This record gives sequence, C-alpha cells and structure tokens, in this order.
Amino acid sequence: MSGYHSAQVDVPVRLNTNESPFPPPDGWLDAVANIAKTVPWNRYPDRGAIELRETIARRHNVSPANIFVANGSNEVIQTILLAYGGAGRCVATFEPTYQMYSQIAGVTGADVVQGERKADLTLDPLEIERVLTRDKPSVSFLCNPNNPTGLIEPRANLDALLAHTTGIVVVDEAYAEFSEWSAMDMVSEDKPLAVTRTFSKTLSMAALRVGYVVAPKQMIADLEIAVLPYHLDSFKQAATIAALGFVSEMEQRVDAIKSERTRIFTAVSDMDCDVWPSGSNFILFRPRSSAASAVWQRMVDAGVLVRDCSTWPRLTGCLRVTVGTADENSAFLGALSAALSIN
Ligand SMILES: *Cc1c(COP(=O)(O)O)cnc(C)c1O
Repeated sequence: MSGYHSAQVDVPVRLNTNESPFPPPDGWLDAVANIAKTVPWNRYPDRGAIELRETIARRHNVSPANIFVANGSNEVIQTILLAYGGAGRCVATFEPTYQMYSQIAGVTGADVVQGERKADLTLDPLEIERVLTRDKPSVSFLCNPNNPTGLIEPRANLDALLAHTTGIVVVDEAYAEFSEWSAMDMVSEDKPLAVTRTFSKTLSMAALRVGYVVAPKQMIADLEIAVLPYHLDSFKQAATIAALGFVSEMEQRVDAIKSERTRIFTAVSDMDCDVWPSGSNFILFRPRSSAASAVWQRMVDAGVLVRDCSTWPRLTGCLRVTVGTADENSAFLGALSAALSIN
C-alpha cells in the first residue's frame, strides 16, 4: 500500500487543505493558556470524556451516550472501521470521495467496494441500491457535502443507503456548516446511522485534532471497545469544552466564507474552466484548454498553492481550491487567470 499524501509547499497563500483561514477567537486562546497550567498532568485523563460528551450532546440535543469523541474525525472513521470493518467484511464508498475511507478500510483488512458517480460527479440512488444489494457492505460512507467535489448530496441518497443497508451508514459532515442540510436530526436508536463532525474546518482548530460522531448508543458502545484507553488527553478534553463556548462566534465566519465562495465560483466560471457548485468551503474546477498540472505549477510559482487532483482517478484535469481570506482569494484568482493565459 502507499500512504495518504497532501503536498505541503512553503508559499504565502496556501489553499489546499480546506482549513479555516481565520485563527480561533482570542478568548479561547486565553482559556487554553489557563487550562495548560491547571490540568492535573500527573493523572490519566477522564477515560469516558464525560463532561466533554455532555457539552457536545447539549449542542445536538442527544444523550452523552450517543457521542464518541476522538483525535480528529479521521480517528473517528478509523475507530468505526476497527469496530465494523476488518478481514472478511466489506466497506462501500462512492467515488470520487474522501480518500481516507478506502485507505483506512484497507489497513483494517476489509475489502473495499467502490460505487461510481456519474460523469458530472453526482451520485445516482440506483447506484447505491446496486452496490448495497450486491455486496452487503458492513459499512457504507457518504460524505455530505462531498470532498473533493464540493457537491451537496440529495436526501434521496441517504434514504437509499438506509433503505438498502444491512450494515451501518456513516455520513461524514466535515463541511456541514457550509451546507444546506444535515443528517444530524435523523440519528435515532432505530436507525443504523452515524454522523461525524470535526473541529478542523469551520471551528478553526485543525491543530487541536478533535472530531466526533453522533450515533445510536449501541454503536457508541462498540466504538469504545475498539478505541485505545485514554485516547483523548486531559488538555484536549478541557480545551474542546472551552471551544464549544465560542461556537456561535466561529459560525458567524461561515457567512463570510460562503460569500467569498460565491465570488470565486463566479470568477472561475468566467474563465476557461468547468466549475462544480459547492456546498462546502472549497471549489473543484477543471481548466478546459490548459494542462492542470502546468496551471498548478504556475500558480505555485506565483505563491499560491491549491490541491492538484488532476492525476486522481475520475478527476482527470481537476484542481481544488479552499476558500481563504478575501486577499488570499484575490491572489488565487489573479494567479489562476495569469496561469490560464499561457498556452
Ligand atoms: C477534512 C476532512 C475530515 C477531517 O478530518 P480531521 O481528522 O477531523 O481533521 C474528515 N472528512 C472529510 C471529508 C474531510 O474533508
């Protein structure tokens, strides 16, 4: 196998990993400095992360027994696959989508079955029915909005997954705050549905490494069996509880990012590029008459880094840009326009 890579190049404008362009609020930084001095560092953390789960549970109006927290939603996905994947089982993804589902499923020894999106990168519910009925995956992933396309999934696709699954369905909502709908209010004890969220994107805390899942109690109990003891350190538990006091401040920034997203979408649509409408904080586009890798390199030379997806299966010729600050986005649009004008 090979690992998961995202090229990191040291340039002034980095728009390649879908982080928030804004740092967290000052009030949270002060709280964190205080937490660092008062954590009982000689003691193991609260293994059940009770207070943290209570705080997140209040946000979603569920019980703490419906919440599992880990070091980023990637670790949530890993724990789900340790519990429900593994040798002799199969895991379904609908490509192109977030690469970590297949990557981690493969590491656990599960077989991966890849359903296909259409040429326009939308997903047909009949494809979901076909894959789930044929392969009976123990875990099926739906990323909404989907990374790397940015497209919002129709509700019919989640309905199709729930109608045909004989295992569990995981909806990855890393970008939920930028989207038009969430599956969160569909989580209930009688559905095999798990919804994941992260602090890495809207909440401006990619460095903290926190994500969580809301799911039926039995599923949470299964994840607790699979995860390592004390996987969430005391500092992180307290810093995350403090962060939840600033959620509304951080969500206010979502509007700013959405209006910049519209500006980028309109401007790139006016260039010689195909562009996909986005319900997230990034935009997928494809230069029509220039080689994407050459465009990517010219933009790097101009100090702007975007994600080069042009060699990924099903994304030939595509690039993906994260919405940044207004200045960063202007730098991106200038660099892209210049890069496209050379043949
Ligand atoms: C960024 C991203 C994640 C987040 O991973 P973390 O481990 O929480 O930083 C999860 N899923 C998708 C689709 C993402 O794009």
